[in-house]
Amino acid sequence: MIDNSNISEVLNIISKTVSKFEKPAVSVVADRDPFKVLIATILSARTKDEVTIVASRKLFSAADNPYDMLKLGEEKISELIYPVGFYRNKAKAIIQVCKELIEKYNGKVPDSMEELLKLKDVGRKTANLVLVLGFDKLGICVDTHVHRITNRWGYVKTKTPEETEMELRKKLPIKHWKEINELLVSFGQHICKPVKPLCNTCPIEKFCPKIEVKTGKVKK
Ligand code: SF4
Repeated sequence: MIDNSNISEVLNIISKTVSKFEKPAVSVVADRDPFKVLIATILSARTKDEVTIVASRKLFSAADNPYDMLKLGEEKISELIYPVGFYRNKAKAIIQVCKELIEKYNGKVPDSMEELLKLKDVGRKTANLVLVLGFDKLGICVDTHVHRITNRWGYVKTKTPEETEMELRKKLPIKHWKEINELLVSFGQHICKPVKPLCNTCPIEKFCPKIEVKTGKVKK
């Protein structure tokens, strides 16, 4: 079982394990810049990391702030970010968020959860990532990897990523809040995969109850 008696040990082992893998796409391309975190997170939805990385770099070399992004226009943004998934919709979303940033926030990304959530299409996952990676503030970004893995551990027992975030906010020691997303995204991409997790070679297998993996249900 993984609980607060061993969570630090488990995350420490995972940290060493994932240090040999490339970091998740948004961490790689965003340079701790809140605007880049926001835009790269939009690009990363339902898109492979390697595609997100190339597309983000191309886009940011053409525009790295909301004013220049608007000057590029939707058509050019679509062209630059192709072939990320839903590239046309994402180009629209980028234009929309840039307009909001200019009209309501003087061209700056706001640094509070409350204000970030007012931006169109920005949910808690993105807002937390902007706070953590862009502003070095406390947040717990729960994506599908964090949700799946912490449930497999029995550390939480939840149905949605939002519920998982709320449980983690109650239970996870604060010192792990900022790091948990980066660690578990990488761990989930390479080891505790959605389908066929590599339990036989997993470095934390001895701690893990493999909930729903054991029963064959395999929580994705
Ligand atoms: S033992 Fe299996 S289910 Fe548990 S963390 Fe490792 S890969 Fe995931």
